[in-house]
Amino acid sequence: MDVSGANDDSFGIEVILPEGDKKAPSCPHGPTLLFEKVCKGDEKGRRFYACSACRDRKDCNFFQWEDEKVSEARLLAREAENQSKRPPFTHKEYCSRFRKFASLPVDEKKFCQDCQTLLLPGDYDTHASHKFTAITVAQLRRPSALLRPLENKKSNAQYLFTERSSHFLLDTLAGQGYRNVLCVGTPRLQELIKLRNLEGKHEPMKSLLLDIDFRYAQFYGKDEFCHYNMFNHHVFGGEASSGVLRAFLSESDGEKVVMVADPPFGGLVKPLANSFSLISQTWRKLQSPDSSSVDMPMMWIFPYFFEPRILECLPSFIMLDYQVDYDNHPLYKHGKTGRKQSPVRLFTNIPPRDVVLPKDEGYRFCSICERYVWSLNKHCAKCNLCPSKDGREWKHCSACEKCVKPSWKHCQSCGHCALPDHPCGQGQGKEGCFNCGSLKHKRKGCPLKDTHRINKYRSNAKGGSKNVSHRPLFKPKGKRKSGAARRAKKMAALST
Ligand code: SAH
Ligand code: ZN
Ligand code: ZN
Ligand code: ZN
Ligand code: ZN
Repeated sequence: MDVSGANDDSFGIEVILPEGDKKAPSCPHGPTLLFEKVCKGDEKGRRFYACSACRDRKDCNFFQWEDEKVSEARLLAREAENQSKRPPFTHKEYCSRFRKFASLPVDEKKFCQDCQTLLLPGDYDTHASHKFTAITVAQLRRPSALLRPLENKKSNAQYLFTERSSHFLLDTLAGQGYRNVLCVGTPRLQELIKLRNLEGKHEPMKSLLLDIDFRYAQFYGKDEFCHYNMFNHHVFGGEASSGVLRAFLSESDGEKVVMVADPPFGGLVKPLANSFSLISQTWRKLQSPDSSSVDMPMMWIFPYFFEPRILECLPSFIMLDYQVDYDNHPLYKHGKTGRKQSPVRLFTNIPPRDVVLPKDEGYRFCSICERYVWSLNKHCAKCNLCPSKDGREWKHCSACEKCVKPSWKHCQSCGHCALPDHPCGQGQGKEGCFNCGSLKHKRKGCPLKDTHRINKYRSNAKGGSKNVSHRPLFKPKGKRKSGAARRAKKMAALST
């Protein structure tokens, strides 16, 4: 069976979150997730365990039926496989190597390009046939620029923030008085925080990077980096590492904590939401009893097509209009002819009026929605919100009683708005094709898919300000039928 699409969004496969003490078997990426194929009607799909982090079997081929009996021999082989995928050094060893490296004279500071490791003189022999480069102290402080970004599209693509976006995030958080930043999959933000501290001009901030890319363990101390999988909330390195995370969340010195996560795009919203919610729960337990705070402040960076899915899981979140862009993403970076449009947004439970979006980049404050919006996102008096998601100016359709994309027209026979050249006809589903509006197919099967790209314009979000809610952060939902597939597919189309 092919589980390469073991993604809650694209192939009708649902993730069943762990309940009780039933332990899932582990792959090299920590405990696996339980998946269930969603079948028509009430029929129950057979459940299986597969890797939480890798969507491609080529990267991790763990597979086990939920009710399968696994032989002793296979368990041993599995254990050996998991062992063999461990990082070459423990974090403690990396730390002591880093101290030695830092004390080397400049001309002996070498980095192996092939292995992506800092080399000590004793390592030269083993790397004799590899490509070395000299490393400056400045480069040591910018590991995200030194390390080659992982490029695996399906699970581990690393897209690094532009200066613009990383400074915006940092300035916003600092301005809000946050002093401890939990960087989940945001190595560039972490390094910017450390560089800012070095400047000595500001009150210092602390940061802890949680990332599955253990190459970062070479550069950071034990209280600065934890090898972590955000799809199963697994902290590698046992109790000692979990302790580092707990200590960071405890705000012991009264300093406000915030989390910023930038997960790989393309799915598994539910387990991500679950992990973030577990982080929030840990944080809440560590709060002093008289504290009135409910949810840990968080920012989750993700494409706007996932808005319905994210809000379904985390109802206290709201999507902001700010467009996050990336240095090494062909579609989401500034072009020579001006910046291209990025579909990536901030989802947060911080009150949106506090997240000031830069005026000089074309954002303005909507006093009715009480949030900053992109300039083309005009407030609609009928909808009572600033409706645009994709950066274009949307228009109100009185028949549909909502605002729609500017390129859509009301179709009498379909009874709703769609692209003028949509395949016309009767539809079953409530939500149609995200691309052309037709109810006959999903975006995946849209015949017009490649003719209407969304990245030509700037974007926007949902109206109405929501305050940080007192509801539990995570709201698990049962089976979900509607439209996430097309958003995932749209994302896939964009990432090519
Ligand atoms: N924009 C960010 C990088 C985002 S790329 C920045 O500039 O700092 C996604 C990040 O998530 C990468 O650092 C990647 O290593 C990490 N990542 C990918 N899969 C992960 C997983 N399962 N658990 C934890 N981190 C993961
Ligand atoms: Zn795995
Ligand atoms: Zn409207
Ligand atoms: Zn209409
Ligand atoms: Zn029609």
